[in-house]
Amino acid sequence: MASGRRPFFCGNWKLNGSIAESLALATDVRNGVATLRDVDVAVGPSFTALYAVAKRLEDGPVTVAAQDCFWEEKGAFTGEVSPAQLVDAGCKHVILGHSERRQLFGELDAAVNLKARAAIRAGLTPIICVGETLAERDAGETIGRVQAQLDGALADMDDTALERVVIAYEPVWAIGTGRNATPAQAGEAHAHIRSRLRQWFGGPAADQCHVIYGGSVKPDNIRDLSALPDVDGALVGGASLDVRSFFDIVTRSRPAAV
Ligand code: PEP
Repeated sequence: MASGRRPFFCGNWKLNGSIAESLALATDVRNGVATLRDVDVAVGPSFTALYAVAKRLEDGPVTVAAQDCFWEEKGAFTGEVSPAQLVDAGCKHVILGHSERRQLFGELDAAVNLKARAAIRAGLTPIICVGETLAERDAGETIGRVQAQLDGALADMDDTALERVVIAYEPVWAIGTGRNATPAQAGEAHAHIRSRLRQWFGGPAADQCHVIYGGSVKPDNIRDLSALPDVDGALVGGASLDVRSFFDIVTRSRPAAV
């Protein structure tokens, strides 16, 4: 974790939890991290629980992330939710381009870009997910794939827009599989993302941008991952559904933790 960027951890609760269960978990997370002063924490419930959870957490320090949004503000788009509606519900972030959305729902880089730019316009921080499949890694295409997704997602953005963006490097083969990237694999991808951001947006904008890791993050692997200079926190799926695991991940990521 490089100095100057506060570590950021976001739980992605995916399709889990009633409103009551989400409220209980959110409350436990808030109580767990309330005394931590050197880290930012968000939780990502399902759409149905966003408002209730945001209300419960409105006094801080934990913020709320939605798991997707549409790019239009309003209109005949049955089933979609706009960035402004997410802000209205109390969200501060929105996860975009998650590999489950790309793989199961056919989401393309162009859509991620439209969603990210709409989210920024509405005042949200998009957490933009990029990452290669196992076949792409085995074919030696990891860096090319990640760069293509990054370039597609950030098209037509300037350095002011980048200030509002978090990038999540999530190798697809590591998500929900129990198989996390090694520090060397994560380090290479994160360093490449940072250098691409520098090339595109310049040093100051690139250096303030959070690039977090996701993919089977657990209390026993976060320390090595978060020690990498370009890893600024984590997007945590399965382990974020258990408050103890999530809390341990957050606390063990900190250099001062024992
Ligand atoms: C995720 O859903 O973004 C994720 C990283 O999941 P998991 O931690 O379960 O691999």
